[in-house]
Amino acid sequence: MRQQTILAVDLGGTKVLVGEVDASGTVITHHKTPSNVASQALAAADIERQIAAYLRQPRPDTQICGIAVDLVGRVDSTQGIWNEISPANAKPLALAQRLRARFGLPCVILNDLVAATYAEQRLGIGKTYSDFLYLAIGTGIAGRLVVDGHLLLGRDNDAGELGHMVVDQHSDVRCICGRYGCVEPLASGLGMAHRVQTLASRYEGRTSLKVAATRLPAIADVFAAYDAGDPLAREVVDEALLALANLVMNVVRLTNTKAVRLGGGVTTGGWLAAHLQPLLANDTMRFVTGGVANTTLDPNRIALQGCGLYGFEQLEAKNDAACS
Ligand SMILES: [Zn+2]
Repeated sequence: MRQQTILAVDLGGTKVLVGEVDASGTVITHHKTPSNVASQALAAADIERQIAAYLRQPRPDTQICGIAVDLVGRVDSTQGIWNEISPANAKPLALAQRLRARFGLPCVILNDLVAATYAEQRLGIGKTYSDFLYLAIGTGIAGRLVVDGHLLLGRDNDAGELGHMVVDQHSDVRCICGRYGCVEPLASGLGMAHRVQTLASRYEGRTSLKVAATRLPAIADVFAAYDAGDPLAREVVDEALLALANLVMNVVRLTNTKAVRLGGGVTTGGWLAAHLQPLLANDTMRFVTGGVANTTLDPNRIALQGCGLYGFEQLEAKNDAACS
């Protein structure tokens, strides 16, 4: 008997992952290409192309029961509608219906952070705690909360956009959302790189970081410079670490969560988690018995895994799987 799978598609800001995931969340195959997220229409067309290409060469040992797609932006999974790729660019698109019509397979869609948190809930820290925060720090910052075993989506599917929590009310750093002192422009990968660029002129001759108007520094280089005592890296990264510590502690106070798991490119290697720990106040963190640590799941595949698992569970719940 062939193994039953979900064809999962993970659309990120820089790449699309397409692969088959089994019912236990194991990624059987995966294929990575650069993404085009300039608009929902372009991204959706790209997703369709990737799925069509994958289905042209079916594996002899698997049977695809459905399609699950996780997406950047706001997603209404119940209706199968991709509401927006960003707040300034909202073009509601009935993507689940469109993919089902094109490929003849049942299809579900969800937000990419929801997918990653779903994997963390089923395969990671969620096996120990029914209350946790999954916080992704990459190009941007966002998270999702699981409260008493329930993944919080929000009435408009907009809960967990933690990058836009103000952590420094005196900051002169303006966020894309219009407010000043949001954590995202201070502490995301892109945010820190921009801060290095903005502050570089103050440190001329005193910093080892190579900064140009057209070239943003790599975060690994900024962290290495920090360790070497570079004053520009110190200013930017100390500001980012304090911003993240404030974010984590604010969420802890709001939710009484039991664990925080970090994902996203900026957390790779554990440098950030290690440097964050000393800034977390014992009193505030006293009930966070699961600690603040990197996810133990593969950060490159966590969303794809969650996407596949979500696909299985949703299709089973609706008795809609193509191969059952
Ligand atoms: Zn903001």
